[in-house]
Amino acid sequence: MPVSALPTHSLSFPEAAPQLATLADAPLRRALDASDNAIVMTNSARRVVYVNQGFTRLFGYEPEEMLGKFLSQVLLGPHSDPALLASIRDNVSASGQFHIETLLYSKAGQPRWVSMVINASDTASGGPGGSVTVLTDITLTKMHEVLQTRVLEGMVSELPLRELMALVCREVERIAPEVTASILAVDAQGRLHPLAAPGLPPSVCDAIDGLPIGPRAGSCGTAAYLNQPVVATDIATDPLWADYRALFVPTGLRACWSSPIRNHQGKPVGTFAFYFREHRGPDALHQRLVDVCLHLCALAIERDSTHQRIHQLAFFDVLTGLPNRAMFRSSAERALGSLQQDAHPGALLFVDLDRFKQVNDTQGHAAGDALLCGVATRLTQCLRARDLIGRLSGDEFVLLLSDCSTEQAVQTAHRMLEAIAQPLDINGQINLPHASIGIAMFPDDGDRIDTLLRHADQAMHQAKSDHRHSLQLFSAEMNRRAQERASLEHALQQALAERSLTLHYQPQVLSSSPGTLHGVEALARWNHPVWGMVPPSQFIPVAEEAGLIHGLTLWLLDEACRQLAAWRRAGHDVPCVAINLSGRSFHRPEFAQEIGDALKRHGLRASDMLLEITESVMMDARPVTLANIDTLHQQGFKLSLDDFGTGYSSLSYLHRLPISELKLDMAFVQDLTTSPTARALTVSVLSIAHSLGMVVVAEGVETTGQQQWLQAHGCPVMQGYLFGKPLPPDEIEAWLCAQAVGHKR
Ligand code: C2E
Ligand code: CA
Ligand code: CA
Repeated sequence: MPVSALPTHSLSFPEAAPQLATLADAPLRRALDASDNAIVMTNSARRVVYVNQGFTRLFGYEPEEMLGKFLSQVLLGPHSDPALLASIRDNVSASGQFHIETLLYSKAGQPRWVSMVINASDTASGGPGGSVTVLTDITLTKMHEVLQTRVLEGMVSELPLRELMALVCREVERIAPEVTASILAVDAQGRLHPLAAPGLPPSVCDAIDGLPIGPRAGSCGTAAYLNQPVVATDIATDPLWADYRALFVPTGLRACWSSPIRNHQGKPVGTFAFYFREHRGPDALHQRLVDVCLHLCALAIERDSTHQRIHQLAFFDVLTGLPNRAMFRSSAERALGSLQQDAHPGALLFVDLDRFKQVNDTQGHAAGDALLCGVATRLTQCLRARDLIGRLSGDEFVLLLSDCSTEQAVQTAHRMLEAIAQPLDINGQINLPHASIGIAMFPDDGDRIDTLLRHADQAMHQAKSDHRHSLQLFSAEMNRRAQERASLEHALQQALAERSLTLHYQPQVLSSSPGTLHGVEALARWNHPVWGMVPPSQFIPVAEEAGLIHGLTLWLLDEACRQLAAWRRAGHDVPCVAINLSGRSFHRPEFAQEIGDALKRHGLRASDMLLEITESVMMDARPVTLANIDTLHQQGFKLSLDDFGTGYSSLSYLHRLPISELKLDMAFVQDLTTSPTARALTVSVLSIAHSLGMVVVAEGVETTGQQQWLQAHGCPVMQGYLFGKPLPPDEIEAWLCAQAVGHKR
């Protein structure tokens, strides 16, 4: 029941001699007393004539103490609104009522936020000019409402942590104006960092920044250290404050109560402190305020560190801590912008480690990681403050040197090569890391970061192919070649998709009877509609690098099998077809199976095919490669070692793998008639192969001189223009027919 609607006859408030009004109606009085609200009635002189028990509960004054007083005399306190009385008076006299949320004080001096409703009521107060005031305690509501809503809204709108914490401090100081609040963060190393302390002098905040927590480190440092609240009612004498007293005494703050802000694991990640200008500890309101705030602060701090972690993960390389590609690109883009403005040159350095894979493969990934970290540190040490560094991927690093001439860039790159090449101890093993560096200059070689990255990358590849551990400046010629390569790659991709490559076959003949086939070698041919015939020496390496080689191999396996089956059906006697395999295909676990499948599709057997591999496959110790070779061997496939004599020529490896044929490289064959060394080597290859039970195929036989020498020294099979060039299938058929005719003659 609203107070203004109370039946007037039950109230009696003597006007002349103020004394506590008594309510004649006992049930009504009980009802008023039971109300949670404080109810006050005043007479025309604005003096109190009645308060209910709710008033006593809220403000601590007994009714007797209130009688005849002005409300303002009793309830206003140090931080109450000074204009409150005037606005009450104005509003009540103008409209007869007034509603406000305001700060009043209890008898014990505790602040109380109240919602205050005042109604002018002549009858209720027993004469003209009286009023009834209902006060509702909204301190808690206020705290929750204001703090929770504002802080959560702040989080939603991505307010930075410091602003959010400053907001908490300001709100706390508004609710409890006798408090100066401060929020400090505690970092992983146990050091304090002010997040917000709007009421503390900046010099004090600066002095706090970086202080270690500990058992006697003021209220905050100690609270974080003990992970429990710490009260110092007198900063000037409290032993915990011994080291920080001098800093705080001039501020006029006398007491401090600090509580740890704990994360979800209960670990202190910050402190929330209330400073007071008097010697005192917290009261019940302060305790509730802190209870509310600690949760909000913990939420905000944890959210911020999650954000930072996500940012770190998204923009920094986990291994080396360097900016990643995305981060480097955006910082570099900005740096180029300011270089452009100042008309200063810059240099983009692309650093790639030499033979990094080898370290990874032979010493393990942990060693590879350690090497990368070591190199990252060395590179960083070569930089000036204004330079940028990033790790693009794997063993690739990029650097942007601001305000740097070509000469300076070359000098820096030399210093980097030197720094990288210092011996590096990884788990007791000494490594000598080497790198290749490509340099592209801003703005001459490009004015956008992507162009510069591409050009520096091209220069780095050039450095790598010239000789490793060197540097190379980007040139237009380089760019032209790179573009050619890119269009070659694109066209090749298309040719593979359209299946427009073809296979030519080169006869391999028996020395004893050059008209009799040992087999044919399938060789890929690419007739480009515009460029004409593109030699395999050009497109095979592109296919390897661009990851197209496996698709090409699968196609040629199928095509060669199809052709062989077709020849057999047509009655042509082709004993087997030799296929060139790329080392990369052996890294695919299903490769052996795929070869078997191709044969089966065309009704062929393993003995119908010879698999040519290079020495790099033979030396590849990867389990997947060995497993593929093992499976092929078990399925009855024969392996032929191509280009023998050009690679490692590690004879010791020969007996480890099931190799049944050696292809003597044409470089030897072509030197046979002129070089005694070539002859000596060929003789020993032939005798080793003989003793290991391997067939030798001499490649590139062009002259009868070569043929005769090879025949005389027991080389069983020959291949070369002397017997037949690589030919399209129909010409192979013609060749076969011609041989048959020659034979009959
Ligand atoms: P290779 O496997 O050593 O093939 C032999 C190369 O020597 C072929 O060159 C062939 O045309 C050439 N040749 C044969 N006899 C003579 C001769 O008497 N004199 C001279 N000067 N050359 C002769 P081609 O077809 O240009 O192939 C070059 C290389 O490309 C091949 O060397 C092989 O490594 C690669 N290649 C060709 N086709 C394929 C393929 O289908 N797959 C793979 N992975 N590589 C292939
Ligand atoms: Ca070959
Ligand atoms: Ca060869």
